[in-house]
Amino acid sequence: MPDGSIVQPEAGQTAKIPLFETHRKVHPKAVKGLYRRLKTITFSVLLALFFIAPWIRWERGPDAPAQAVLFDMTTPRFFLFWIEIWPQEIYYLTGILIVAALGLFLATALAGRVWCGFTCPHTVWTDLFVWIERVFEGDRAERIRMDKQPWTARKILRKTGKHAGWIGLSLVTGFGFLAYFTDAPTLLGDLLTFNASYEAASFFAIFAGMTYIMAGWTREQMCMYMCPWPRIQSAMLDEHSLVVTYQAARGDNRGPKRKSQSWDERRTQGFGDCIDCGQCVQVCPIGIDVRTGEQADCINCGLCVDACDSIMIQQGLPTRLIAFDSLAAQETRATGKSYEWRLVRPRVIVYALLMLVIGGAMAWSFALRPSLNITVLRDRAPLFVTLSDGTIRNAYTFKVANKTRQNRAYTLSVAGLAGADIKVIGEAGDETAAHTATISASPDSVATYRVYVTAPRAAVTAASLPMSFELVDTANSSARDSHASVFMGPAN
Ligand code: SF4
Ligand code: SF4
Repeated sequence: MPDGSIVQPEAGQTAKIPLFETHRKVHPKAVKGLYRRLKTITFSVLLALFFIAPWIRWERGPDAPAQAVLFDMTTPRFFLFWIEIWPQEIYYLTGILIVAALGLFLATALAGRVWCGFTCPHTVWTDLFVWIERVFEGDRAERIRMDKQPWTARKILRKTGKHAGWIGLSLVTGFGFLAYFTDAPTLLGDLLTFNASYEAASFFAIFAGMTYIMAGWTREQMCMYMCPWPRIQSAMLDEHSLVVTYQAARGDNRGPKRKSQSWDERRTQGFGDCIDCGQCVQVCPIGIDVRTGEQADCINCGLCVDACDSIMIQQGLPTRLIAFDSLAAQETRATGKSYEWRLVRPRVIVYALLMLVIGGAMAWSFALRPSLNITVLRDRAPLFVTLSDGTIRNAYTFKVANKTRQNRAYTLSVAGLAGADIKVIGEAGDETAAHTATISASPDSVATYRVYVTAPRAAVTAASLPMSFELVDTANSSARDSHASVFMGPAN
């Protein structure tokens, strides 16, 4: 089955359908129009942001990285201008991803796969790669012709130029990605002088190689076969979602139009407005025919709208034979009634509300997040120790994260356990048990302590008692954190 077609079965036989679709090379044709302009503007802005962001400097102090946007793998931290996210605060990044996913759901409910058509990095880079291809090999017809021709010096030269352009852009992209994970100017110097570390060089090669393969070779196959979004998106769409749609009621019956043929003549012959020129298919980066109905593979890029609009203008007919339209609009118009697009629908409200609530909760918790953070791990072996004076002792590993850029001292105490004393191991002058203890932490670091908590036998009324550790910054009593734990003792 080399061509991927379906064999019609003989009587009594079953049809043989190939497991894999044969690859058809798509040669998208250049097009001009509103959506092409929108795409160019959108991807220019996104690319500028992507490549410029790692070069923005942000002064944080002598020991901190001066890059405004940085996933620092050495500390490890995520820096975004004045914001600094610690590994234990990864839930903020999770929250951002959840809000982004809800934004994608909302955009899909409103206008189908517009994310895919205008902003998805794969689309953006594929667009750039196709542009390079066009520069070296010409537009669609020329590329198809050249692909069929035998190898000549000219063909080799043009193909070499295209691949050199692709490789150049892939290398720049590889650097662009990596620059978010390490200091950009240093990385550039290291790469240019071949002094980059093994890890940096490997990731640079991986990012560049993936860009070359994905944007140069897999292109629409990524959107059709590898990306799960086309299968998921249908759950977000409803009859009011705007998707790129061919107006079959207006366009059919289709048929080529002879120059001598008038539109009145065509109408009496039963033809619609579609002159079957195939422009909408030729410009499609996915290689699909939008006239065959709504398709999961369509990325809603609107290029077929631009192509068809220019044909309609040439023919002196109204534009938008192919348009961003909803199923509800088509059905309503078919009954002769007028239709107004319904922007506010239950799913739109739910997605928008969820975005607001989750985004608001994150912003609220972020604004109130303390400059210190404690984690406590209780020893499990032994669960407790009975000291010679009869008191019960539990041991804990206590960690305090100092998120400021100054040395900090803290007062540690225990709440919820009557008569409890604390002893911090290793702290000078604090070896004796007391109701509170003072500990400290260096700037932007996590200090780890062994902490003993002792309680009078009479206070230990159960095998497990809830209690909590309280930590307060000695210089700023509003900077505090607490951690719920338990105190173990003998069963009474
Ligand atoms: S059918 Fe039209 S909107 Fe859909 S991917 Fe092709 S060109 Fe873009
Ligand atoms: S571009 Fe318009 S007129 Fe031409 S085939 Fe497509 S729908 Fe028909």
